[in-house]
Amino acid sequence: MSTEKTSIQTPQAIRGTQDIFGPDAEAFAFVVETFERVRKLYRFRRVEMPVFEKTAVFSRSLGETTDVVSKEMYSFEDRGGESLTLRPEFTAGIARAFITDGWQQYAPLKVATHGPLFRYERPQKGRYRQFHQIDAEVIGAAEPQADVELLVMADQLLKELGIADGVTLQLNTLGDGASRDAWRAALIEYFRAVKGDLSEDSQDRLERNPLRILDSKDPRDKPFTANAPKIDDYLSDEAKDFFAKVTGGLDAAGVAWTRAPALVRGLDYYRHTAFEFVTDRLGAQGTVLGGGRYDGLMEALGGSPTPAVGWAAGIERLAMLVQEAGNALPDTLDVVVALEDDAALNFGIQANTAIRAAGLSSEMISTGSPRKRFDKASKIGAKVLVGISIRDGQTHLNIRSTSNAEERLKVDDIFANLKR
Ligand code: ATP
Ligand code: MG
Repeated sequence: MSTEKTSIQTPQAIRGTQDIFGPDAEAFAFVVETFERVRKLYRFRRVEMPVFEKTAVFSRSLGETTDVVSKEMYSFEDRGGESLTLRPEFTAGIARAFITDGWQQYAPLKVATHGPLFRYERPQKGRYRQFHQIDAEVIGAAEPQADVELLVMADQLLKELGIADGVTLQLNTLGDGASRDAWRAALIEYFRAVKGDLSEDSQDRLERNPLRILDSKDPRDKPFTANAPKIDDYLSDEAKDFFAKVTGGLDAAGVAWTRAPALVRGLDYYRHTAFEFVTDRLGAQGTVLGGGRYDGLMEALGGSPTPAVGWAAGIERLAMLVQEAGNALPDTLDVVVALEDDAALNFGIQANTAIRAAGLSSEMISTGSPRKRFDKASKIGAKVLVGISIRDGQTHLNIRSTSNAEERLKVDDIFANLKR
């Protein structure tokens, strides 16, 4: 018989996915909980969306020429032979639902969600293949106040996460359809003259998606992007007025912003407001939150014309800033119960249950040598320490706390009402 052990190889996790644990998970939860709290203040309704959709939902809305559709989508055929795609963003699915589920009746509709998204990207710090976003959208609102409300909400969120320092709101307008088309034509003409000197990617973008050349990170493109035609020279009076109302609203709300004339959202359905909250503390992955107005999207998906605006933010990038700022530290435990005699186990369970039902966090130490449990419990550093032992056949309590805080009073009260 062979002495060789049969070894089973553990399958590895997929590259670019994450197992989030420990302080990373605490920070992640803090971001989501803060978002949930803030979106309620602004009366955004929670929605849950499918993780996968028919591929056309994304290819029609994002446009075949975008990086996401051409290179980053996780598409596959299911057993029925239909092409499906793991969602690379939330907006397209929410827009699809707005049309297919009759959400028009709720317009203007303010919705918020969060969850995992999938993009086939080169994994690196702050860039994953499964990542997570929080997302907020206002659908069926043409007025600039909707843009303002979304931006003020984003600003409040960053402040409540304690990461607003060093983050700036970069704001631009792409104008209305006519302004945008005129600007686009001018960009094509300008870049065509220097086509041979542009990066391959930008040469490729030139006819299909020229706005995207402006946010190219390739050094070969930089000298040309700096002097490219500016949107301001092509804005209609109406578009100027819209933008003035957005900036006026931000000023009224006390939200700081800077004008970023080269900031674009490449997708054809974007109109008017485009924005990013950017930090210099995450290296190359500096955009923490981005969005804009996408008045043309519903039509691209076969719906009736419906103005809309929204933003999304990467939870991982927000969580990294939260951790850097030293926020989202785990809460101190309220109560630790040391069970010093196994005969009191059920009393301990009764007590622990009552403590948690009263809204206090608690842990019970009930394993290992009974004599050492009190010591072990005292090292945990809970606000209140309860020793439960049996003396002369009676349950005996030893309650300690560093102060007579609210938690101590509650614990005294809970034990006074327990059956022994
Ligand atoms: P980038 O320019 O960094 O690729 P993007 O324009 O593709 O960003 P959006 O589609 O606007 O990003 O998504 C909004 C936010 O989602 C980003 O600002 C970022 O915080 C986050 N995000 C996007 N892609 C990833 C990823 N692969 N991993 C982690 N977070 C991401
Ligand atoms: Mg990207």
